[in-house]
Amino acid sequence: MKFNEFVENLSNYEAGKPIELVVREFGIRKQDVLKLASNENPFGTSEAVRDAIVQNAACAHLYPDDSMYELKGALASKFGVEPQNIIIGAGSDQIIEFALHAKLNSRRAILQAGVTFAMYGIYASHCEAKVYKTSAQEHDLAELLKIYNAHRDEISVIFLCVPNNPLGECLDAEAVYEFAGSVDEDTLLVIDAAYNEFAAFKDERKRLDPKLLIQNFKNVLYLGTFSKVYGLGGMRVGYGIAPRQIINALYKLRPPFNITTLSLAAAIAALKDEAFVQKSLQNNAAQMSRFEDFAREQSLEFIPSYANFITFKLSPPLDSSELCEQLLRRGIIIRNLKSYGLNAVRITIGTQGQNDRVFGTLGEILSGY
Ligand SMILES: *Cc1c(COP(=O)(O)O)cnc(C)c1O
Repeated sequence: MKFNEFVENLSNYEAGKPIELVVREFGIRKQDVLKLASNENPFGTSEAVRDAIVQNAACAHLYPDDSMYELKGALASKFGVEPQNIIIGAGSDQIIEFALHAKLNSRRAILQAGVTFAMYGIYASHCEAKVYKTSAQEHDLAELLKIYNAHRDEISVIFLCVPNNPLGECLDAEAVYEFAGSVDEDTLLVIDAAYNEFAAFKDERKRLDPKLLIQNFKNVLYLGTFSKVYGLGGMRVGYGIAPRQIINALYKLRPPFNITTLSLAAAIAALKDEAFVQKSLQNNAAQMSRFEDFAREQSLEFIPSYANFITFKLSPPLDSSELCEQLLRRGIIIRNLKSYGLNAVRITIGTQGQNDRVFGTLGEILSGY
């Protein structure tokens, strides 16, 4: 069977390797596999969230409240916006997809940093749109603006990932606001804040304020997720905050009941469990500095990170694919960045005990080079 040309040309997104694969391929017991590849919360699911999921299990036969009244209300009061400024997605990924379908076609383009979240480009290719990238790997606002100005009529969506996955660098909020002011009202500016909680905890200047954004700019879509600091990667809940006109357009593309009854209950409980979030943020900051110390000891080049992962840039004879493979055989899954064109690896910051194991195992492997 023939498919649309753009489908034939698509490559699959390389997600973090699942634990099950390591169990099958290397015969390692499930409980001995350490997954630090997808930036999930190393403390797992908070107890309050688990309780909420169990309590709602008996309602799994019911479609969820499609107005998502309670979750939107909770997010609205957290950020000081109206519920009408919010859309919920099956992960913020789904909202990226809505946004691109709303703005792109084969004559349009997106603009992004040289190395950033792969899904922007993948969803753009679903719309047969072009992808402009800066030559700089990290976010370079001057270069982004230069490319934008050269292709203003073509570029319909610009992505800023703050902080950036998979590199970890982070723009200051002020710089983001200033950049937003230089973008045409008809160009959608998507600000992906999947890790912004971690950045704001480390440095207040990185804290993005979605209320301020939507008050000042008609063309901004702020994205947050429950998959990272809230520990709900498996429940698939994300949110978008934007002026009503944008939310209304995205709503037209949303399938009904796009998140589950249990996901909804879990997200509502997660928002209330501020102690779990604080514990996660504190652990991340403390363990991040241990990772930096480890990198210095091992003479590994790292990018100072504002997120819950650290990226090591390798140089020969160290090869990222080989290093990932060696760790995998020892039951540790990390993220190879070869598919981004880098000889680099990204490791999610774990708990103290998990990281001890990483330092031990990685140190052992590195001593063989
Ligand atoms: C994890 C992540 C998301 C969202 O993930 P969902 O699980 O779909 O909410 C969005 N952007 C970036 C950069 C991410 O790393």
